[in-house]
Amino acid sequence: MKTFCILSAFALVGTCATPKYTTRIENIKNSIQLIDSSLVVHYANTITANELKTHLYTIASKKFEGRGTGEKGCKLAAEFLKSYYQNENIASPYGLSNYYQHIPETFFSNGTKATQNVIAYIKGSEKPEEIVIVSSHFDHLGINANGEINYGADDNGSGTVALMEMAQAFNIAKKEGYPPKRSILFLHLTAEEIGKRGSEFYNLHPVFPLKNTLIDLNMDMIGRVDAIHKNNKNYIYLLGSDRLSKELHFLSEKVNNAYANLELDYRYNAENDKNDFYSRSDHYNFANNNIPVIFYFTGEHPDYHKPTDTPDKIDYQLLEKRSKLIFATAWQIANQKHKLVLDTENELLK
Ligand SMILES: [Zn+2]
Repeated sequence: MKTFCILSAFALVGTCATPKYTTRIENIKNSIQLIDSSLVVHYANTITANELKTHLYTIASKKFEGRGTGEKGCKLAAEFLKSYYQNENIASPYGLSNYYQHIPETFFSNGTKATQNVIAYIKGSEKPEEIVIVSSHFDHLGINANGEINYGADDNGSGTVALMEMAQAFNIAKKEGYPPKRSILFLHLTAEEIGKRGSEFYNLHPVFPLKNTLIDLNMDMIGRVDAIHKNNKNYIYLLGSDRLSKELHFLSEKVNNAYANLELDYRYNAENDKNDFYSRSDHYNFANNNIPVIFYFTGEHPDYHKPTDTPDKIDYQLLEKRSKLIFATAWQIANQKHKLVLDTENELLK
């Protein structure tokens, strides 16, 4: 055996002795090459605080009545998203006229009315079968018992408008000759507030096979500053990035260092965290199907799940910065040479 090892060490480096864990991690870090830097910066800059603000004042307006799942306001919000994509000339996987993944009333056993996920799509130019999902829920709590509207500006108007702006940025790039190599699905989820049912439904009825779905980057409440960070607003919480793919974790950090320089705060990613935010939004249903996820979040605040979660309390400059980070992360995963790898399939970890 010894001789074999010495000989093969020349031919196949690393087959005899497993490198130390730290070396393996170093190898993963070094395997990530950022691509298209000037394009990423250029198209990220089409995401602006002003446009985010305009969209958010609409999504969180009286007209949408707090977007209660299956209610009138939720339907109006879905129509608003659909017309946005039609005007932007961004298709859905169903074509240019239907953007809805219908969820029937029978899927809910508590009287919740039929509702829909709203899905937009940009087809990849080289590996269209490989799917990158960026998601956020657009439903909220509707009108409360006192007749007050739960506007849900942060929860989750903030993620909704970030997703709209990211789709637009990818589409401008496409129109100018830089389509993503892999396909990107912009997934506006319904029924999150009643138990992540919209993402549950998507995972039961995926538009593209889950085995070809590389990632879900999910945003839920990314527009405010919590008490912990009141003196250091340049932050975002990340959850889940290291759980299924270490490559994803280091890719995400590298992208942040290159383009955004936000403080990536992982405190809520601790396995035993008492808040258990990790299981509390839609990415969780993807992670349970072995799809790597990052959950982006900026923390709770006194207006959480109250009618006072209004658009005047959003920090639009920060929302812009955070959206740009997530856009750049999606760009890297959609365009890098090799497919994002799960740890269980990563040769560099063996
Ligand atoms: Zn939410």
